[in-house]
Amino acid sequence: AKKGGGSVAPYDSSRDGASTDQLTLLAELREALAVDDQLQLALQPAVDLATGAPTGVEALVRWLHPRRGLLTPADFIGPVEHSEQLGAFTRYVLDKALAIAAGWARDGLDVPISVNISARSLLDPRLPAEIAEALRRHDVPPRRLVLEITETVVMSELEVVDEVLGALRAMGVQIAVDDFGTGFSSLTFLTRVPVDEVKVDRSFVIRMADSPEAAAIVRTTVGLAHELGLRVVAEGVETAEQRIALAELGCTAAQGYHFFKPMSADKISAVLGSLLDS
Ligand code: C2E
Ligand code: CA
Ligand code: CA
Ligand code: CA
Repeated sequence: AKKGGGSVAPYDSSRDGASTDQLTLLAELREALAVDDQLQLALQPAVDLATGAPTGVEALVRWLHPRRGLLTPADFIGPVEHSEQLGAFTRYVLDKALAIAAGWARDGLDVPISVNISARSLLDPRLPAEIAEALRRHDVPPRRLVLEITETVVMSELEVVDEVLGALRAMGVQIAVDDFGTGFSSLTFLTRVPVDEVKVDRSFVIRMADSPEAAAIVRTTVGLAHELGLRVVAEGVETAEQRIALAELGCTAAQGYHFFKPMSADKISAVLGSLLDS
């Protein structure tokens, strides 16, 4: 039960039911994309573990729904990813993120912004040209944009994805592998897809202290990434113990509530200003 054109994979309502609710939600999203300020970006810095300097800022979408209240990605990303509105949603988020990055550049804050890109958006051959146009329009250098992608890109689609990612990297846009280690073929993925950064999944950071296996995965990921000349960022760091253990395993950068919770665009300029000054 899905409306719209035939080029989009049907939404699998068996996964979480309530497909009428989702159709309502998608209709409301169409409105949210047309008006302004319902969809906002929360921003969370990642920091260098040695210096505390910001290494980048991740943009995390929030929907300030006029009736339902504050919605997080878990409340709506799934249906959006399977709908024909994914393209418009991706463009909207990228546009907001680049507007924010342009503001930082005007304030002399030299920090890249990371945007989460749904796997299915990477199958759209128009994506590189759209991103090039948005970068020009906001006058943001391509290196200031990092696209976070996951390994869920089906291996059989890797040819299209390769082409899209190749074009983006040729422009100077950076690519990060999100949730690294949670897929079935993480190592293969790294050898197949050209990337600049690896984000160690939060689940390993949580288990590191009690699980030698989790610690080994973190150590191996960090070693492999550095050997391949890639940056590594550990996600979801909540405690000083985790920060110290990560540094001991050779990890150089981290992100999580221990450092900063996601915050509004207004707040983050001041935070970045003080981090870069100190
Ligand atoms: P992710 O990319 O793995 O993002 C990290 C999530 O962990 C974020 O949740 C963030 O708020 C949360 N987080 C950060 N530090 C900590 C911590 O120390 N502890 C804990 N428990 N959580 C932490 P959020 O914002 O709800 O986003 C969830 C997921 O939604 C993201 O996972 C990403 O896959 C997706 N997402 C977020 N924004 C976008 C977007 O603009 N577009 C797309 N396509 N997906 C998005
Ligand atoms: Ca992410
Ligand atoms: Ca992640
Ligand atoms: Ca995740």
